[in-house]
Amino acid sequence: MKNPLLSILTPMFNESSGIDRFFSTLEHAMKAVPIDYEILCVDDGSTDDTLARLRAHAERNPCIRVLALTRNFGKEAAMTAALDHAEGDAVLPIDADLQDPPELIGAMVEQWRTGQYEVVYAKRASRQTDSLLKRKTAQWFYRLFNRMSEIHIPENVGDFRLMDRKAVDAIKQLPEKDRFMKGLFCWPGFRHTVIEFDRQERASGQSKFNYWRLWNFALSGITSFSTFPIRAGTYFGLLVSLFAFIYAVIVIIKTLFTGVDVPGYASTMVVILFLGGIQLFFLGLLGEYVGRIYKEVKNRPIYLVAAKWGFEERDTD
Ligand code: UDP
Ligand code: MG
Repeated sequence: MKNPLLSILTPMFNESSGIDRFFSTLEHAMKAVPIDYEILCVDDGSTDDTLARLRAHAERNPCIRVLALTRNFGKEAAMTAALDHAEGDAVLPIDADLQDPPELIGAMVEQWRTGQYEVVYAKRASRQTDSLLKRKTAQWFYRLFNRMSEIHIPENVGDFRLMDRKAVDAIKQLPEKDRFMKGLFCWPGFRHTVIEFDRQERASGQSKFNYWRLWNFALSGITSFSTFPIRAGTYFGLLVSLFAFIYAVIVIIKTLFTGVDVPGYASTMVVILFLGGIQLFFLGLLGEYVGRIYKEVKNRPIYLVAAKWGFEERDTD
């Protein structure tokens, strides 16, 4: 059997300051791992000199391949591009900021090569480098997500994981445009095992995910994998109708026995405002789904490739 190939996938958006360190650390770590590998970097429309530096590295090391997107499509799209272009028998996404330690790759490959697992997760044993707010919100998100959706995503596991070709091919069959990779990665299932690690601070540069972006990310994740929120609207509506019916019966009986009494402004207002708020809320929620349906039916490509380097020996196009 031929030597297996590992595709290491790295989306990069304005990572210029850390790129040299990233490659030296990764290449050093890979020396200890007995496997052929390629490092497939996707430049996600960086505005600094990330791409120029990537090309210089690709020239130096023939294992490095570079894919440049035409603009910033976001990490999920960049990861999709990387998956589509990876040829390895296993793939392993890793962030460019060294928050995912390359030293762990050896252990992950070892687990995979036992032949018992198609997926090897690297789980953050601690999130001490994250703020309390980020830790808490992440925890709530995982709980909520796993309650609502049929698939289960492991807590505190990022994109850093090793996946066998079988799992990758399954993921590539998922056609959605709204790509919540954490969910998509888990969708195929397969046998998995977990390796724990301590997540470090970013080696250099800044996180591209502020709270607003994370909130949208969470919303996208939940609406992509669960219709529970709109169904909740139905149940809530039913419950409110039931109460309204009971209340109507009470009012009718009361009117029959004690006659009409006028006061009731406060309670009327409360009911109107409450129901109005609930209706707007679920209308907005419905809009989330309709918007996503709209995005899917437009059927636009998830990303556009501007140029490729280092694929020559494999591509004939
Ligand atoms: N990234 C990307 N496109 C984006 C935002 C981020 O390719 O629009 C890349 C980024 O360069 C890094 C990885 O995604 O390699 C993770 O980003 P970051 O470290 O900012 O996320 P965090 O670790 O804070 O979740
Ligand atoms: Mg990071």
